[in-house]
Amino acid sequence: MSVAENIRCVRERIAAAALRAGRPAAAVRLMAVTKTVDDARIGEAIRAGVEIIGENYVQEAKRKIETLGKSCQWHFIGRLQTNKAKYAVQLFDMIHSVDRWELAAEINRRARLAGRVMPVLVEVNLAGEATKSGVPPADAAALVRSAAALENLAVRGLMTMPPFGADPEEARPYFRTLRELRDRLAAEAIPRAELRELSMGMSGDYAVAVEEGATIVRVGRAIFGERH
Ligand SMILES: *Cc1c(COP(=O)(O)O)cnc(C)c1O
Repeated sequence: MSVAENIRCVRERIAAAALRAGRPAAAVRLMAVTKTVDDARIGEAIRAGVEIIGENYVQEAKRKIETLGKSCQWHFIGRLQTNKAKYAVQLFDMIHSVDRWELAAEINRRARLAGRVMPVLVEVNLAGEATKSGVPPADAAALVRSAAALENLAVRGLMTMPPFGADPEEARPYFRTLRELRDRLAAEAIPRAELRELSMGMSGDYAVAVEEGATIVRVGRAIFGERH
């Protein structure tokens, strides 16, 4: 199947999941995750109308953005080293992976120097997996509050990557927990924080994530096939 056909198929499943949950399909944005994907196929995804391209590596994304342009949004979803914050601020429309105070502070500093306000999500490591980034759940609220106070950051919500499981239902409790955490934080009415985004769900489990409230699903293999 072509990239465009895969995207149509993913969109149909998103719409069906949204319907089951009583949510409008338009409340969910589709991100095509393009690590290792070549420019021609990323171009197909952009022409097929994905709202967002997601990249894990700053260098790789820089080259692709220069080639493909900014007719869609580009979001950063990888582990961000503090010394790359400067480039991330120049290149991306949103950073999904703020997982520590030092990184929030450095993005804020670089955004101020660039004269912009950088939209970010706080990444939460709900299962405490050592191999994954993300702030521990117990520290998430404090990070959201302190990041929200930084004038050149716009904290827009939360992101998570649950443990890998063969059955998408295994991810449901994590998605639900992230939504409940977001709802609790939103109820605090933290000044400047607008916690509307829930970035959750990948190729194996995006339908479950939509049922649990995802506003951005991050889909790679279901659009582009297996990565080499
Ligand atoms: C690679 C990646 C994805 C996409 O995973 P697929 O299984 O290819 O859909 C989503 N989110 C993050 C953070 C990733 O690194």
